[in-house]
Amino acid sequence: MIHIIGKKKKRTEAGGPEQESRQPSKAPPETDAVRTKASIKLKITLLVTVLMAALFILLLIFMLVISRQVVYQTSMQTLSRTVQNNLSQVSLQDGRLQIGENFTYSHSGVSTLIYSQSETLLAGQVPVTFTAKEPFRNGLTRTVESQGEPFLVMDLWMPSGWDDGVWIRGIMQMPAYEDTARNLVVVAMIVLPVFLLLTALGSWMIIRRTFRPLEHITHTAATINEARDLSGRIGLPPGSDEFSRLAAEFDGMFERLESSFEAERQFTADASHELRTPVSIIKSACEYAEKYDETPEDHQETIAMIHRQADKMTSTISQLLSMTRLEQGIEPASMDIVDLGDFVRSACDEKFPDSGDGMTFDLAENVTVRADIALLTRLLDNLLENAFKYGKPDGHVRVFVRASGGEALLSVRDDGIGISPEHQEKIWQRFYQVDSSRGVDSGVGLGLAMVRQIASIHGGRMTLESMPGAGSTFTLHLPLLSS
Ligand code: ADP
Repeated sequence: MIHIIGKKKKRTEAGGPEQESRQPSKAPPETDAVRTKASIKLKITLLVTVLMAALFILLLIFMLVISRQVVYQTSMQTLSRTVQNNLSQVSLQDGRLQIGENFTYSHSGVSTLIYSQSETLLAGQVPVTFTAKEPFRNGLTRTVESQGEPFLVMDLWMPSGWDDGVWIRGIMQMPAYEDTARNLVVVAMIVLPVFLLLTALGSWMIIRRTFRPLEHITHTAATINEARDLSGRIGLPPGSDEFSRLAAEFDGMFERLESSFEAERQFTADASHELRTPVSIIKSACEYAEKYDETPEDHQETIAMIHRQADKMTSTISQLLSMTRLEQGIEPASMDIVDLGDFVRSACDEKFPDSGDGMTFDLAENVTVRADIALLTRLLDNLLENAFKYGKPDGHVRVFVRASGGEALLSVRDDGIGISPEHQEKIWQRFYQVDSSRGVDSGVGLGLAMVRQIASIHGGRMTLESMPGAGSTFTLHLPLLSS
């Protein structure tokens, strides 16, 4: 109690200087959030752009290396194929050179030449720029530089008899690879800035769009903070991405905060309202005693009255606290599987050991539910106390347990004063009493409100059947586990 009142008082007092001292400390987080958000967007955009630039440059290097290889390999293959083809077209018959009609002197950039064994040119024309004196090497393709230009050269020896033969030489000028590479780099240098600009713009737009829910969350949180109105919700459509989950968590937190503050506000309002009457009775009893109590009997009567009012205040406060704790979820229910019949029997034996014929039972077996024993005991106590309180002096209270329509039912029936239809809905409200003039025995009007709350914590509900003069039956309906 001290804890809650203390907390509340602190907040009420915070309207003065404390509020001023809080204000500056609240503004910075909001500014920080905006600043951090902007910088994260910028950072990611920069990161993506730098990565893309690195990727682009790597790709360019890769292309340069690969294209050089491809050019070299393709040239070698063309040279080798052409020389091989031409070799098949050449023969020596009786020392005379025979050249087939499919022999190509110049084909796909390859010039084919035929040399005698003594390296005299017999057929073909040496490219003008190839002036190098390159010795013959059978089957070897190599690069030879002539007048600053690279050439590929391949020789094949075509033997004839034991001691004669001709050399077939293929000469091919290497394609101007450096020009290609230079062109590639120039194009890349023009494309790169445009590509990076587009990357930066595109990623900025995508990131901004992605971060929009976060802006919405920040905005809602700031609005709730500024207006101090906990009823606001972020309300993002449900989804599985991180922002939707964050928003759902925030909404859940706002929900709990709101109900917690509401419970606290209700407690303060109820306590101050309900304690006013007993406090003023005690006050006027004291004033009366000071002025008029003459005999010890008068004095005794006054003290008894003060005692009764103090008891009432204690009971009001403890019931209010129990309800507030339930609403705030301070004491979370610890659910167990409970056999309702066994539970009722032992709870009644403990609470009303001497009830005798005044209380009878009709308890079905194996009706099990999931329930918090302490809360269920509190609920049953309230119903039984009311049944005896508002029952006939020699009346009967009957407790039923049964299963029906997928529900477990626990009923407490009395044959007492009953409740007229116009009151039957209202008795569940806090502090509502049909006849509040019944004195201190009638309680404070919180019992049934608590009963209903406990039922709803268990996913159940309460119903009432009652006829004035004939009695009332209060029934708890709970989801049935088995019967
Ligand atoms: P309290 O009993 O402390 O007044 P409750 O919330 O338990 O508060 O009950 C609210 C009101 O409902 C009671 O004041 C009484 O008028 C009525 N009531 C509750 N139980 C019964 C009952 N078994 N028979 C008749 N009236 C009842």
